[in-house]
Amino acid sequence: MADNGLMLAVIGGSGFYSFFGSDARSISVDTPYGPPSGAITVGTVGNHEVAFLPRHGANHEFSPHTVPYRANMWALRALGVRRIFAPCAVGSLTTDLGPGSMVVPDQLVDRTSARADTYFDTGGIHVGFADPYCPTLRANAAELPGVVDGGTMVVIQGPRFSTRAESRWFASQGFTLVNMTGYPEAVLARELEMCYAAIALVTDLDAGIESGAGVTAVDVFAEFEKNLVPFKKLVHEAIESVAQDRTCTQCRPHEGVTLPFELP
Ligand SMILES: [Zn+2]
Repeated sequence: MADNGLMLAVIGGSGFYSFFGSDARSISVDTPYGPPSGAITVGTVGNHEVAFLPRHGANHEFSPHTVPYRANMWALRALGVRRIFAPCAVGSLTTDLGPGSMVVPDQLVDRTSARADTYFDTGGIHVGFADPYCPTLRANAAELPGVVDGGTMVVIQGPRFSTRAESRWFASQGFTLVNMTGYPEAVLARELEMCYAAIALVTDLDAGIESGAGVTAVDVFAEFEKNLVPFKKLVHEAIESVAQDRTCTQCRPHEGVTLPFELP
């Protein structure tokens, strides 16, 4: 299968709505799944052409359960993107990772429901997802100074936060981070043969871990805002450390497989 796309992408989460200065160009894309969350801007970081898409829309129009995930990933692939960093805000399930911690998870648990999470309703296609993140892109981010390498991110349906009992249950399973958007984004990237790595910024201790009144959206956004500059810097540095050529094969599960349609 041809793979000549070298473009990278950043999908910005809550509070992360722009990535470039005024020199970036804006592109509107449509897909068989409707339009993506918003206009995609394209700029340059180091030696890479990079596309930026605000996951929730430029004005946070989409809640975690209404984000058009299939359109977003399809649009990026159609533009020529093959590698994606996905910054996101997360709650922490351990006091070891306090607010402001930056973590590159290595595992994911899906607790969402009724989200459209595949392109393959026909064709008997089953992608491997044992390791949900690209090992190469993960290393690009995880090896930066101050970054925590590894952790299991449980993705809840939202938009509500967890109850204390849910939160304690997740923690007792050894999960370390909780988030609302990391699934199905990661698996859709895998289905479209794009490398994908999440980079998580801890904004709060989840309900069962902290001793106060529980997490609020206001607290989450305030903490994110406080760390936005260093977090964006981290994403820039991760991109700069990505090699020009894409060499990993783990993220291309369809080698030798006949698909029911051609990937964009
Ligand atoms: Zn990869």
